[in-house]
Amino acid sequence: MQRLRDFQADADRGEYCLAAGRGWGIFPPNQFTAARPTRDPTLKIESDTVVTFHYTLRNEAGTELESSRGSEPSVYLHGANNVIRGLESAMAGREKGDVFTASLSPVDAYGLHNPGRVQRVPVKHLAFRGKLAAGKVVQMNTGEGMRPVTVVKAGRHSADVDTNHPLAGQTLEFDIEILDLRAATAEELAHGHAHGPGGHHH
Ligand code: ZN
Repeated sequence: MQRLRDFQADADRGEYCLAAGRGWGIFPPNQFTAARPTRDPTLKIESDTVVTFHYTLRNEAGTELESSRGSEPSVYLHGANNVIRGLESAMAGREKGDVFTASLSPVDAYGLHNPGRVQRVPVKHLAFRGKLAAGKVVQMNTGEGMRPVTVVKAGRHSADVDTNHPLAGQTLEFDIEILDLRAATAEELAHGHAHGPGGHHH
């Protein structure tokens, strides 16, 4: 609690302090709150906004690769690296109801395609259904969890896999519709991801 003489000192400097809503009338009571930059993660997408959105992802040729439409929308915590960087920057500042297309170069999406990233791995490190064959995208167990790789050549005990992300080297177009914005909870901020429908459940 600021003491009265401090208020007086402020007044002497021409400044104004709100003391329980009363003041000396130098400025109208709302002056200071109104002058502060507004920061409301439910109005525009910024850090701490939880965003619910629909998307359709196409490649450069216009072929649809993925879509959330027709099923549950996606939900993410903005500013926490939960989506690829280019998509996150295309989302920043958008509002509920916005519909737009974001075209992302490979660098802003899944990176450039590096032809040197083919390696031979034991088949037991791969998770897949059906038969292992060239061109098939399977999950590889790495030290940092499962990641998608593309089979180049399949053998009985080992396989050559291309560890570039399957969408590396591609320019991608996202058709986005922002359905809802809300402020993240303290728990979501601590975890670095969104909870609830479309988010993490634990
Ligand atoms: Zn969590």
